[in-house]
Amino acid sequence: MASSSSTVFIALQCFHCSTMQVKQKKKSSNKWNCAVCNQKQSVRKVFAQGYKAKDIRTFVQSFNRSRKSLDDDQQWLQAGTLNHEMEHVDGESEFPNELNNNKKTILSRW
Ligand SMILES: [Zn+2]
Repeated sequence: MASSSSTVFIALQCFHCSTMQVKQKKKSSNKWNCAVCNQKQSVRKVFAQGYKAKDIRTFVQSFNRSRKSLDDDQQWLQAGTLNHEMEHVDGESEFPNELNNNKKTILSRW
């Protein structure tokens, strides 16, 4: 059963979300969309290629799995620790009330 299909499957990594995924190699265009983040990009590096999608898929899955475990090891960098310092605000707020002219002009019309 020789397959007449000359479709080549390639493994590409999204530069945006770093997800490895299987795509069909196109002769006309090297543009592709990430299936995860939908980022449109051009093929920059082919990590694997072959006529059997299953082989490429296996490669992609093992790559993503190892990448995931790496992420788990690193855990999330706690760079954004929020320090909620209580700023003591004096209850007495001093309003710079300028003393307005209290002088009432009393016109005595007698
Ligand atoms: Zn992506």
